[in-house]
Amino acid sequence: MTDRTSEYFLQHDGYCPVCENEVRFVSQAKWLRDSFKCPKCSSIPRQRALMKVIVDYFPGWRGLHIHEGSPGFDNLSSRLARECAKYTASQYNPKLDFGRVYEYNHPSRTYSNENLESQSFQDSSFDIVITQDVFEHVFNPEKAIREIARTLKPNGATIMTVPIVMKTQPSRRRASLIEGSVNHLIEPPQYHGNPIDGNGALVTIDWGYDIVSYLQHHSGLSFLMIQIDNIDLGIRAELIEVLIGFKRPIASL
Ligand SMILES: [Zn+2]
Repeated sequence: MTDRTSEYFLQHDGYCPVCENEVRFVSQAKWLRDSFKCPKCSSIPRQRALMKVIVDYFPGWRGLHIHEGSPGFDNLSSRLARECAKYTASQYNPKLDFGRVYEYNHPSRTYSNENLESQSFQDSSFDIVITQDVFEHVFNPEKAIREIARTLKPNGATIMTVPIVMKTQPSRRRASLIEGSVNHLIEPPQYHGNPIDGNGALVTIDWGYDIVSYLQHHSGLSFLMIQIDNIDLGIRAELIEVLIGFKRPIASL
């Protein structure tokens, strides 16, 4: 059978939620997750889905205190950094001191060096905590989500993208940390791009849809998983679920 992958082509006129332009989305490859791009801002479907969720749930995001963990240099993170006056970036750099602020070449200008599993931020610091494809790289996700919940203000929320590659199958661990050494449980190790490390970031967990109850259990936040397919917004691809976890007070009845 002939491989027709290279001949695949999709284009659609629509509106890009990331750069807010009328554009013609184009993909020359079948794997839309990485190739169905906005010609103006180069955003990909999961970024447009994430921006739509941010705007839908927090239309006043520009005035809120946002923490983004490990932002890339994509146009979504750049726009948040430019347009939100109280935007705080953090990166994970074990070679530098944690809890200190460093300058770098990002629209946020600085980042706080943070281990997401043990953050230096005070309780109730942020309205929104954003992570894009970070939770498949942490060794102790239960600690990371607990820390995110601690640093959220009441009525705040964490909004994240994570590739849920296992779908209806249970989540499984690919790598663990034992006394500081990485133990690979599934070979070969997988790596994704890392904004501050050219060697890439190790994938530690293959998540399934059970991530929703896992994160909810360990954080006390109320999670929703949002799947968007909206070709007019250029949101069509696999593995672009957006999770949102609310820190909502329990009703006193
Ligand atoms: Zn765009």
